Amino acid sequence: MDSGFRLGKLFGIQIKIDWSWLLIFILITWNLAILFGQFHPVWGPGLRWGTALIASILFFASVLAHEFAHSLMAQAQGVKVRSITLFLFGGVSNIQRHPPSPKAEFLITIVGPVTSLVLGLLLTLLAGAGFGAAAVTGRSPTEMFGQLSPLSTLLIWLGSINILLALFNMIPGFPLDGGRVLRSILWAIIDDLRRATRWASWVGQAVAWIFIAMGIAMIFGFQVPFFGTGLVGGIWLAFIGWFLNSASVQSYRQIVVHDILEGVPVKQLMRPKPPIVPPDCVISDLVNTHIMRTDDHAFPVMQDNQLVGMITLEDVRKVSRDEWETVTVGQVMTPMDELTVVGVNEDAADTLMKLTRRDVRQLPVMENGRLAGLLRRRDIVKWLQLQSEAV
Ligand SMILES: [Zn+2]
Repeated sequence: MDSGFRLGKLFGIQIKIDWSWLLIFILITWNLAILFGQFHPVWGPGLRWGTALIASILFFASVLAHEFAHSLMAQAQGVKVRSITLFLFGGVSNIQRHPPSPKAEFLITIVGPVTSLVLGLLLTLLAGAGFGAAAVTGRSPTEMFGQLSPLSTLLIWLGSINILLALFNMIPGFPLDGGRVLRSILWAIIDDLRRATRWASWVGQAVAWIFIAMGIAMIFGFQVPFFGTGLVGGIWLAFIGWFLNSASVQSYRQIVVHDILEGVPVKQLMRPKPPIVPPDCVISDLVNTHIMRTDDHAFPVMQDNQLVGMITLEDVRKVSRDEWETVTVGQVMTPMDELTVVGVNEDAADTLMKLTRRDVRQLPVMENGRLAGLLRRRDIVKWLQLQSEAV
């Protein structure tokens, strides 16, 4: 998940940049250089590429401003913000947990698009000054654009992209800002976060399918109001619809899982007294007496009543068959200092995140420095299946 680099801190919030953002950055700069070249044939390559590069950097700053608006409002509402990550589809504020109230959720969300809209209108207004001068001498719109200075060209593009950013984010599809605003309103009315999320997610999926349908219609040559027609535009619209749909389904699932597990202590889900092995046990013994006789895949390794490591089926697979009689568990186990452990009273929702982040199937559970049990992914899944039937 953590692929990218850290840019620095602003207002105590870490700014991270995902590598996928660089791809978008290059694409935008390249496209703009071509676009500017079409409107301004007299511009040399240096001016064209220079203006495109500055425009890309300012676009980056615009997305950052949008995300900072969310994050600063979150902090003002008493919600912790860890970081802001910029990636392929824009920005994500890593805001901790659920907002405390519908009002907080509404405020935290709405400031993002409002910031983009205000920025967009201001920049367009500024560009309008330069545009007015060009309008006197220009005849067709293309000619008018052609006479704009590099600064006005940049402002006009940046202004419209910010307005577009505000409009796109206000599409009422959860998890976009528009979907979150809708959810906060529903939440305020029906006073049930999970149901409000489900309804917002349905609206998101409906909007997504409308996009897909319009995209397909455009591909077949139909004229769609506001979007026009054409193969490329149609594919784009259908793609955005598909992306919205999967994001909507996925984020709803995550929220349901988080809601079910939040506040449930690990103690309730873990397997107490799991089978254990000593570190001097040879691999063949482990296989014959433990792995083959049970359906367990992971064993805490204990010495003098202390947890010293974990051994799993994957560790055993790394040992070649003819070494099974000589190699011991202690030689191939994951040692204690490389293990992630959880406490009996830790929250199951946080623990699931740890399991996912470490990409492991189980975590040893500790109580007062001693092994209390083993929390396996499948225990969590079983709990989710039991609970979600009641939803
Ligand atoms: Zn936003």
